[in-house]
Amino acid sequence: MPEITRADVETLDQQDPLARLRTAFELPANQLYFNGNSLGAMPRAISQRLRDFAEKEWGQQIVRGWVTQGWYEMPQRVGGKIARLIGAAEDEVIVTDTTSINIFKLAVAALGFKSGRTKIVTTRDIFPTDIYILEGVVNILAGRAELCVVESEKLCSTIDQQTALVVLSPVNYKSGALFDMAKMTAQIQTQGAMVLWDLSHSCGAHEVDLHRIDADFAVGCGYKFLNGGPGAPAYLYVAHRWQQNLQQPLTGWKGHAAPFAMSPEYRPAEGVTRLLCGTHPVIAMTCLEQAVDLFGTVEMSQVQQKSRRMGDLFITLAEQRCADYGLTLLSPKDSTCRGSQVSFQHPGGYAIVQSLIEKNVICDFRAPDVVRFGITPLYQKYTDVWDAVECLVDLLKSGAWQERDQKPSATVT
Ligand SMILES: *Cc1c(COP(=O)(O)O)cnc(C)c1O
Repeated sequence: MPEITRADVETLDQQDPLARLRTAFELPANQLYFNGNSLGAMPRAISQRLRDFAEKEWGQQIVRGWVTQGWYEMPQRVGGKIARLIGAAEDEVIVTDTTSINIFKLAVAALGFKSGRTKIVTTRDIFPTDIYILEGVVNILAGRAELCVVESEKLCSTIDQQTALVVLSPVNYKSGALFDMAKMTAQIQTQGAMVLWDLSHSCGAHEVDLHRIDADFAVGCGYKFLNGGPGAPAYLYVAHRWQQNLQQPLTGWKGHAAPFAMSPEYRPAEGVTRLLCGTHPVIAMTCLEQAVDLFGTVEMSQVQQKSRRMGDLFITLAEQRCADYGLTLLSPKDSTCRGSQVSFQHPGGYAIVQSLIEKNVICDFRAPDVVRFGITPLYQKYTDVWDAVECLVDLLKSGAWQERDQKPSATVT
């Protein structure tokens, strides 16, 4: 393949139908941000939105704001907007709690549907909180459930007639490798088990169609590709067919059929509303809603297409220019098998990431040797990829990273 030039890449930016969205985000000058898979950039409109919230909503309306400002229905309203991004119906998604807590609620609910079955299955390479939470579920259910944490390759042979639930992330957070969601869902359901998809690395990054694959449950976070802000609330999805009889363990008053009846007896609300627990964080949800609204003018197919092209560009440039320096591609080369990130392995991964961050190329490190570049089509340019690779080439050529600490010390890497 002929060497790609920066001018070629500039042409890609000029032809990019999503380019107009970049100005909707606050992006620090001179910084190349490749960490939107960890924390999304801030939509510019948030500053004014929060000022309005303080001055006009909370400041003036105080408690009346629950009604006059539509605070009360936010979990359902914002959930409905996220539903469009994951191929769900509006009344199948609700914004609430954190991803971790939502996994807990839905895992217990799933076991309730499958009495007689005891196994929960997940993969070793899933984001660790999923495993930790499922361990917690199994511990509480002492003896009535067991957790099988297996390598992805062993998944199919582990799922059997004893399996109640399989918890999976479509994207491997280290390598970026994608599961075939439709095929996995069908295999799981053929065994009579249910599936819970953790969409934290998927929603807002690539196409997901929960109806087409007939998924049972899903969860995901609001602060990665959805750009809802640090610690933004999470969301969950329950297919219509499971809503009526679902029993979740955190039966708080906001999941009650009539919270303000203040009855001492719990009676679950209809639909996904029963998955609510306590009062939602309105300020955080205001930010999330503003961020999700930015997806209102784009199709996820466009986002996915740009993500794949940016990833392909990154990989081609790295192959052409970094091949001699011990950098190995960890992500699948085929973009249809890859989520919205490109990962490499390098023995000096930690020091390389620290050096890149110092040069304002913001990426991250995942133990033991993974260098991760998240790709966020809403606000990144193709030339960001070019410039990041340029920086990486300079660093590898000079060997300057070797002078740094080679071991992780920072709390957040
Ligand atoms: C980021 C992420 C989470 C985060 O969970 P929190 O409860 O929001 O901290 C969970 N699962 C996956 C797959 C993730 O990528």
